[in-house]
Amino acid sequence: MSNSITLDGKVIPFKEGQTIMDASLAAGIYIPHLCHDPEFTPHGSCKLCTVNVNGRHMTSCTMPADNGMVVENNTPAINDDRKALVQMLFVEGNHTCPSCEVSGNCKLQATAYYLEMLSPHFTHLYQPRAVDASHSEIFLDFNRCILCELCVRASREVDGKNVFGISGRGISSRLVVNSESGKLRDTNFAVTDKAAHVCPTGAILIKRQGYRTPIGHRIFDEKKIDEIKIEPDNEQA
Ligand code: SF4
Repeated sequence: MSNSITLDGKVIPFKEGQTIMDASLAAGIYIPHLCHDPEFTPHGSCKLCTVNVNGRHMTSCTMPADNGMVVENNTPAINDDRKALVQMLFVEGNHTCPSCEVSGNCKLQATAYYLEMLSPHFTHLYQPRAVDASHSEIFLDFNRCILCELCVRASREVDGKNVFGISGRGISSRLVVNSESGKLRDTNFAVTDKAAHVCPTGAILIKRQGYRTPIGHRIFDEKKIDEIKIEPDNEQA
């Protein structure tokens, strides 16, 4: 007998070892997320994929699916919590969508649209953050980092390089470059690295590419984030 969970009232199958997120992606059901990518080890840090499982809050990217689970995902209450999380991300960093060259390709922006965020709501922290333009092909804007660690995981797990890390705790947490100078130019980071292409915001930018695709024709200009199919990688069963 095949395994299944009920997600927003719909019965969907899952394979042994899959998480709720894996099952939802395979079924084409969108659960908002920013720190998750099926290619890398689940992290569970952005909390956007939190769902209600049998009455308890769980991050769907880390919670293994279990036969008969009843999962609530797309409810007004859960989406309100998600919107507050996104609003906090917006005020914690310096996200200026109208002047950002990643506008239209940015998952943070697209998620805010999906959740119908109309204002940041909270007070901006306006933290002073540097940029790193030292690398010949890649620009780092720490103002836009949401600490999802996708670049950290991609560099470590796929590129085998360990270019990035997270330093500090709590509100002092920040992305760091693992070189003695702290500059990207002093690492072996390459524009072809997976880590150069996973950032869900505009924190890691490929130089001289920003406006190759005109505004109005970018990924999330064409489709809403919940309409884009992401392939799950967890096919082990
Ligand atoms: Fe995530 Fe981008 Fe920050 Fe890396 S630079 S942690 S990918 S937001």
